[in-house]
Amino acid sequence: MAQASNGDMPKEASPSVIARHAATLGALPFSDTSDFDDASRGFLGTLENARVDSAQGRVVWSLEPYGFLSDAEAPATVDPSLWRQSRLNMNHGLFEVVPGVYQVRGLDIANMTLIEGERGVIVVDTLTSIEGARAALELYFKHRGRRPVAAVIFTHTHIDHWGGARGALDDDALASGLVPIVAPNLFMEHAVSENIIAGPAMLRRAQYQFGPLLAKGPRGQVDCGLGKSMAAGSVALLRPTDLIMATGDRRSIDGIEFEFQMAPNSEAPAEMHFFVQHYKLLNLAENCTHNFHNLLPFRGADVRDALAWSKYLGEALRMWGGKADAMCGQHHWPVWGHDRIDTMIRQQRDLYKFAHDQTIRLMNHGLTAAEIAETIKLPTSLEGAWHARGYYGHIRHNVKAIYQKYLGWYDANPVNLDSLPPVEAGRKYVEYMGGADSILARASKDFANGEFRFVAQALSHLVFADPDHQAARALLADTLEQLGYAAESATWRNAYLFGAQELRQGMPKVPPRPGMPRETLAALRTEQLWDMLGVRLNGPKAEGKHIVLNWSFTDTNETFVLTLENCALTYIEGAQAPAADASFTLLRDVLDEVIAKQTSFPEAVVSGRIKLSGNAMRLAELMELMDEFPRMFEIVEPKRTAVS
Ligand SMILES: [Zn+2]
Repeated sequence: MAQASNGDMPKEASPSVIARHAATLGALPFSDTSDFDDASRGFLGTLENARVDSAQGRVVWSLEPYGFLSDAEAPATVDPSLWRQSRLNMNHGLFEVVPGVYQVRGLDIANMTLIEGERGVIVVDTLTSIEGARAALELYFKHRGRRPVAAVIFTHTHIDHWGGARGALDDDALASGLVPIVAPNLFMEHAVSENIIAGPAMLRRAQYQFGPLLAKGPRGQVDCGLGKSMAAGSVALLRPTDLIMATGDRRSIDGIEFEFQMAPNSEAPAEMHFFVQHYKLLNLAENCTHNFHNLLPFRGADVRDALAWSKYLGEALRMWGGKADAMCGQHHWPVWGHDRIDTMIRQQRDLYKFAHDQTIRLMNHGLTAAEIAETIKLPTSLEGAWHARGYYGHIRHNVKAIYQKYLGWYDANPVNLDSLPPVEAGRKYVEYMGGADSILARASKDFANGEFRFVAQALSHLVFADPDHQAARALLADTLEQLGYAAESATWRNAYLFGAQELRQGMPKVPPRPGMPRETLAALRTEQLWDMLGVRLNGPKAEGKHIVLNWSFTDTNETFVLTLENCALTYIEGAQAPAADASFTLLRDVLDEVIAKQTSFPEAVVSGRIKLSGNAMRLAELMELMDEFPRMFEIVEPKRTAVS
């Protein structure tokens, strides 16, 4: 077997990557530094290195490891446009947006916006963690004086916008019930469900998107486009007390008038924008940020609706164009002045519309997703707008998402209908291409010529055919690394560099997955718990089994019949089967406790918290058919453990 000669360490940038960066420097308007002015405007103070610790002294967030970004000039191993964005995302602390409106930025991937009311302060989005939210609020109090939190607004359902809510609302505030929590309609339905059913797969894939397990540095992770990275820390979901139902809905919150716009199925399934006349402040949540956002993040998600997204921005312009002195979002920095605000919204509106319409046009000409990605090019007017650059999403993968939304995974070429999976295909490719040595010889030559995209494709066949071929792994790692260095998109860079790292070092060891927090469980409907159980059922193991269980939850007044037959777990709500194998009566809360592994089912039976009749062993039998999902699984190489 060939031995790795290149070592495990990240390499230099190749000449073709350096040439590409030089071209980028010439092509984009680097002399326009207004974003740097905006990102630092109104600075009032910060925490050293933006560092947030947990009560146990664990680092929840810190920008210290990103100190290397102080160099203005991009190193050869980072795209200069991405370097610029990464530097902009280094601004951290408390900033005045307009007098009376403040933002904490850079203490998390997302922003906290603080709007002063008659008596207190309205907190818009609460960052990812309780620790982060507390630190952000303390920073605000330090500079603006202590005042009560008068309300919390969640702009949308992603965790970096609500995870820290308990850091903004203490027990007294919660118990009083006097502090409204305002959120878009269907907030609870979507806040956790987006990541529940496919959670294990998404969390592993998110490592490739955000690069949390990469070293930070010029040859490693520099940013993720929207901000630095995912935050750690403790999370809790709070139930909104006031849902915004329709565009044009108004609320007077702590004496300040808010006008809302609904934007469902845009960047999140439930999302909303608002305008505050008193401050002439427009907040477009996460739909108008300083990058081309994702229509389908690499972690995996329901495809987002580019057409709806564009329409919401158009509607926002019609409702509030020319009215706002400042526009802020819940990521990145604000923009000031009617003209600049309207221009940015218009360009963002057209960015999503252009991507949508041109994808469909090319699709209707018969081009496939990969061909559309290769063909499409943003118009010059958008190409040169910094906020339209693909740091997080990217035109080349966003068009694939649009294709998927309308036509799905299949490109209609029957060759791709039932193609061989990677290992089997890899073996045949290697055979047809004359064996490993022949592939490596050609790949090395093409690598030297900078043909990284095809070299990666060809070598991937070899790695899937022979994952222990060290020279193939090493050259594929080097190739992915050059693709990472060349990428303007932070998410592309993270994906490529993490792929390279796993080829060189194997999958990182990570601690076992923690149990699901009780508050998350409490937010789920009982049907969703059964759905989660259903996708854990190992179909082949369940062959020939027939189990019927009655469930009765006395706190929620729900009943269910859970049935296993035909290797599928189904349920009927509002019913009890007369001939069930067993019947269970309990509080829904107790079921949550069992799932969170705070008690066991038998313990709860013994303590009388679960009452049962019939043959309870049939439940044990059902639970033995459930898979546990691994936290890690192979991505750039074949699965080492067979899954069936
Ligand atoms: Zn966000």
